[in-house]
Amino acid sequence: MEIKITPKDYMEYIELVAGKIEENRDYITELDSITGDGDHWVNMNMGFQKLLENKESLSSMKLNDMFKEIGKIIMSTVGGSSGVLYGSAYLKASKTISTREEMDIQLLYTVLETKLLAIMERGKAEPGFKTMIDSLYPAVNQFKLALEKGLDQGTALQALKQGAINGMNSTKDMEAVRGRACYQANKGVGHLDPGAVTMCYQIEVLVDYLCK
Ligand code: ADP
Ligand code: MG
Repeated sequence: MEIKITPKDYMEYIELVAGKIEENRDYITELDSITGDGDHWVNMNMGFQKLLENKESLSSMKLNDMFKEIGKIIMSTVGGSSGVLYGSAYLKASKTISTREEMDIQLLYTVLETKLLAIMERGKAEPGFKTMIDSLYPAVNQFKLALEKGLDQGTALQALKQGAINGMNSTKDMEAVRGRACYQANKGVGHLDPGAVTMCYQIEVLVDYLCK
């Protein structure tokens, strides 16, 4: 297989993410109630529903303009840290995409890496701090290794997904250094980070969409 993602494809993917988030309200709210202030699901759900409302206009934009607009919508509708972090990620990715009209696998890698670096910079956070970065960082790394080895695209995408899942699971034993969990007595130890879970959902849904 050889992937090619147009703006229309990307918005189909966004719709699937919105559904995945919608379905997991209780689980995500519970996680953020234990480790944070309980609003992570509301924040993410509001953002993705807003993107869905704009599906048609977003689908008709050029890829970089669509990413820019997604960033702006997320910034203005998603409350909390995740709004600023995802917003910055999309805005930076929009610049990386530049005039490219579709994403091939190499551009997808570059976009994911750009989002990761934007989130790390904006959140002043690194891997191991028990945040959304702990899903994205290993995912991007595993993807990179697979691409460097010249593995076929389907296999490389599965490596991306597995990296995210392993990364998400690794947050359970981490002590939070960023995010609200770091103000708790046990630093969130024993619970997955909600932001890492929703980040993992986005990567899983992407890979499943591209490999279907
Ligand atoms: P808030 O923490 O402001 O209530 P959310 O509940 O929407 O915002 O998002 C919480 C998630 O955001 C956390 O679970 C964590 O994954 C992520 N997060 C919080 N702060 C940071 C940071 N500085 N860098 C990276 N990710 C962060
Ligand atoms: Mg919160």
